[in-house]
Amino acid sequence: MNILVGQFGHEANNFCEKDVTYEEFISLNYFTGKDSLWRYKGVEHLFGGIIKAAEEDNVNLIPTMDLMNPIGRMEKKALDKIVDTIIEMIKPHKNDLDGVLFCLHGAGRAAGVEDIESYTLEKIRDVLPEGIPVVSALDLHANVSQEMLNLSDGLFGGYEYPHIDFFDTGYLAMKTLVQMIKKEVKPVMSLKHIPLLLPLSGGFTLREPIITLNNYIRNYIKDKGLIDATFFHGFPYADTSYASSTILVLTDNDQELADKAAQELAEHVWSYRENFLPEIISAKEAMDQAENYNGEGYALVSEVSDNPGGGAPGDATHLLREMLERNLPKTIFGFIYDKEVAEFLHEHKVGDIVNFSLGGKTEKIHGEPIQINNAVIKNLSNGEYIATAPMIKGYPLCFGKSARVKIDNVEIIITSQRTQTLDDRPFLVTGADVAQYDYVGLKSSNHYRSFFQDKAGIIIPCDTPGVMTGDLSVLDFKHMVMPKYPLDLNTEFK
Ligand SMILES: [Zn+2]
Repeated sequence: MNILVGQFGHEANNFCEKDVTYEEFISLNYFTGKDSLWRYKGVEHLFGGIIKAAEEDNVNLIPTMDLMNPIGRMEKKALDKIVDTIIEMIKPHKNDLDGVLFCLHGAGRAAGVEDIESYTLEKIRDVLPEGIPVVSALDLHANVSQEMLNLSDGLFGGYEYPHIDFFDTGYLAMKTLVQMIKKEVKPVMSLKHIPLLLPLSGGFTLREPIITLNNYIRNYIKDKGLIDATFFHGFPYADTSYASSTILVLTDNDQELADKAAQELAEHVWSYRENFLPEIISAKEAMDQAENYNGEGYALVSEVSDNPGGGAPGDATHLLREMLERNLPKTIFGFIYDKEVAEFLHEHKVGDIVNFSLGGKTEKIHGEPIQINNAVIKNLSNGEYIATAPMIKGYPLCFGKSARVKIDNVEIIITSQRTQTLDDRPFLVTGADVAQYDYVGLKSSNHYRSFFQDKAGIIIPCDTPGVMTGDLSVLDFKHMVMPKYPLDLNTEFK
């Protein structure tokens, strides 16, 4: 059995100032052919699950590309170049395929194309012979459209944020596709939009009552005999007309059951809506809390509004400035993205004392650059590491040229790759043991929690001005269909 696999994932933050070019888009992790697959073998991630299921059923996987970037809206010509590449990769195999599993994040958008997932699925469909099943595994933050259902034979998603169950999503998608090819199941789907927007920082699932909510959905699937049901959190920051939370149900050829289940689960999720509102506190308030913390372990402050995992630049200076001004002993910030500075530091050696202007170079809202004087270079690194965060454990990644510098009491890690902190690797690759510090700063909305939840003494999310803010009321939504909770607290759902 031959199944073609690949990933083209875009999580579009429509509040970023500029559209993204093709070169910018592929500058994060982009691999093609065999390189797009082998890294995932045994890894707790989407493709780890896909590979495991394929091995169990003796499926011959035909790899194409692995491309995923959470960033601003992309240029139309960037979208077309990527989709053309996918189609050219499919063409040589199209007559030998039994099925296609193409992962699409689900929250992308391009200039002039609001629903890039449907756009991509349609092009894939067009090149394939009639009757080849096409399924997709999506991210929990997908904004699912009805058009995506119309163009696919099955859409799958996970439950957890941090995405620690990605492996299970990939596994189920591949298992179901194999059963479809063997004519053992015939999935039908039902989608229900909920007029609910989940700010990313409010979507943490490893806490009550969200644990209870997710268990309810898992038990519902078993009780009703569904193939799958997903509560997609959605990604409001894409600002597409259909951006919202959704329930998607898959049954084995029972549309009535799928429709009924989608409605019931959507109403159940709606009753939890107040539990997804994040607390909004400033960098100053967060650092006050950190300074007042007297317990065991370090105080971790996360700048959730500058999460590069949701399209933010990763070079905001709001929290870092506050930490520098406080100058508390044993403070470390891990990390800020500034390729220019990272490369400048690599022109020097460990022990050199240098001056430079740091961060604040991408979007005005994320703060002005900070003038750093008399910084001592403590470590220089090529930034290569193997991830240890439970959501992607075992995957080889790279921060690019990286450095750790010290200014008085405060140490700062600077990287040349725009990504978020998932675990202790940014600290470790620059020679620092995060456990030896008292105050730790980083940028991530929730993924960091899968590693740090049990290790930090206290976790304090702070929400500085930024394109990933949890306070959706300050964002200028232009395309989304209203009303939506919590923008309008009187929103009704029937
Ligand atoms: Zn996500």
